[in-house]
Amino acid sequence: MENQNCIECNLDTSFGSGLFVNRIPADNGEKEGYLCPDCQSMDCDYCNESALNWSTDKKGNIICDDCADLLWSDFKDLAYNRRTV
Ligand SMILES: [Zn+2]
Ligand SMILES: [Zn+2]
Repeated sequence: MENQNCIECNLDTSFGSGLFVNRIPADNGEKEGYLCPDCQSMDCDYCNESALNWSTDKKGNIICDDCADLLWSDFKDLAYNRRTV
């Protein structure tokens, strides 16, 4: 049966688990499965908050969507890899 658990923390992300909506398919080279919202979160390098929705700027820094929105006028000039989840 297909692995429905988070490949990082092994939480169940199957339908009805509450984590289903925000899970993303993931493959870490060893396991195939999903990433739960917590394990997708990264600390924003701009505001230092943990963010589920984030992107990377030209230098590879993590920027959360909130900061990206605030800084968008400056940011759009940078190579901007917005993650589409
Ligand atoms: Zn997880
Ligand atoms: Zn931020």
